Amino acid sequence: MASPYEVRVFGDPVLRTVANEVTDIDGKLAKLAEDMLTTMYDEPGIGLAAPQVGVQKRFFVYDYGDGPAALINPVITESDGEWLYEEGCLSVPGLAWEIVRPKQILITGYDLDGNEVAIEADELESRLYQHEMDHLDGVLLLDRLDDETRKVAMRTVREKFLGLDPSPEAPDPARSTSTKRPAASGGLFLP
Ligand SMILES: [Zn+2]
Repeated sequence: MASPYEVRVFGDPVLRTVANEVTDIDGKLAKLAEDMLTTMYDEPGIGLAAPQVGVQKRFFVYDYGDGPAALINPVITESDGEWLYEEGCLSVPGLAWEIVRPKQILITGYDLDGNEVAIEADELESRLYQHEMDHLDGVLLLDRLDDETRKVAMRTVREKFLGLDPSPEAPDPARSTSTKRPAASGGLFLP
């Protein structure tokens, strides 16, 4: 069976827009979440935010190993520490970068039954939520890189996803970053 959605990739403007609060947690949203989970598992990935399938709403689905779940109107209320991890993204496929983000967070939101939830997350789980939160704000992992790394990374993605040639004097960016595969390209860390 074909995926219900095609995951939008770098260059699609929907990935750069700030999503709107969900106002109704209803059957329509549940169906959307279900279809997004199907697409997520097909990729495969461990998380998928609504803007990644072209829906400008503040929620994401994920499966961190405890089964499928969705978080609606999420807010990160606390964060602590720093953690370096190689991060990929289904919307920037085939590339990954080491990124520092807070190690622990407290995230609150609503589940598909409309119940308020609060999750304390650490390391990989925490990273997953922070990555998906970024998608809801139109932020991509490229924006989390330091200036120097970002410059090279932007050339690589523009060439790869927008089909633009790098300037002749530029070093070959593809060689410097695209040889890195996501640590978990076996299907783990791709949100
Ligand atoms: Zn992503």
